[in-house]
Amino acid sequence: MLRRVALGLLMAAVAGPAFGQAYPNKPITIIVPFAAGGPTDLMARIVGERMGKELGQQMIIENVTGAAGTIAMGKLARSAPDGYTIGIGHLGTNVVNGAIYKNLNYDLINDLTPIALLPSNPLLVVTSNQVPAKDLKELVAYLKANADKVSGGTAGMGSGSHIGVLAFFDGTGTGYQLVPYRGTGPAVQDLIANQIQIMIDQSSNSLPHVRAGKIRAYAVTAKQRNAAAPEIPTTAEAGFPGIEVAIWHGLWAPKGTPRDIINRLNAAAVAALKDPEIRKKLEDLGQDIPTPEQMQPDTFAAYQKAEFAKWKPIIDKAGVKIE
Ligand code: ASP
Repeated sequence: MLRRVALGLLMAAVAGPAFGQAYPNKPITIIVPFAAGGPTDLMARIVGERMGKELGQQMIIENVTGAAGTIAMGKLARSAPDGYTIGIGHLGTNVVNGAIYKNLNYDLINDLTPIALLPSNPLLVVTSNQVPAKDLKELVAYLKANADKVSGGTAGMGSGSHIGVLAFFDGTGTGYQLVPYRGTGPAVQDLIANQIQIMIDQSSNSLPHVRAGKIRAYAVTAKQRNAAAPEIPTTAEAGFPGIEVAIWHGLWAPKGTPRDIINRLNAAAVAALKDPEIRKKLEDLGQDIPTPEQMQPDTFAAYQKAEFAKWKPIIDKAGVKIE
């Protein structure tokens, strides 16, 4: 008996943490800061499920919605740093919110550790089919004439769809009423029903509905047309240069998560994005897939900081802040 215990201890020592306790040895929760069915949720499900296969564990999605992702990121920052709770976010939740919300109860850069950069997608200017405009110029004229009647959906101040709105207002000189949702998944359903008339929405959310003829797309907020929808002109081609925004995604862990766990999660994300089936799914939704080098935790951390330096003055100049 004693010998068996001794043998067990010896094996544990030889195998190190891989013996019995190997990470991960239980399901991993991914906190998603927006409603189910929207683009961030979709990204978490597509990439997360594949990461789970790689890690040999189930990935559980937990949608923690509200206040443009700040509630979710606060919860993530206060979670145990053991690799069993991670979060997905994007340019809005993990960069722009830091400039907009003055009283966050967490530090976006110091309380969350980057795991991996994930794909990025442009925004589409989309309206309900009831809006009588054939192209972007007509749409802008329509908005100018009907500013008080038109409502647009966003996922809250600082969300990707709101960043799109800021760029769109700036680039077209228009404005309309904004209706906040817990995510653009529910918002696009209201767009289809003409409860709201316009969105500047991530392609992954709206493109399937554009293809189905349920809403109309006028332009993509990128320098180049998107390979998934080459028929949609760029904002510049449609007459309004300078409206260029892409919403990149990423994975973060609470500060203090051991580096070997961060590396393990990063390797699973890199493997997921190498899978041709996953790549095809994402590319069909208009997503650009980062290289494994861009995905590395340190490269991603530097990118997040550079993005913060880029966006902070833009947000401050736009005067968007929430005390
Ligand atoms: N990406 C968000 C969502 O999943 C919406 C947004 O950022 O606009 O709903």
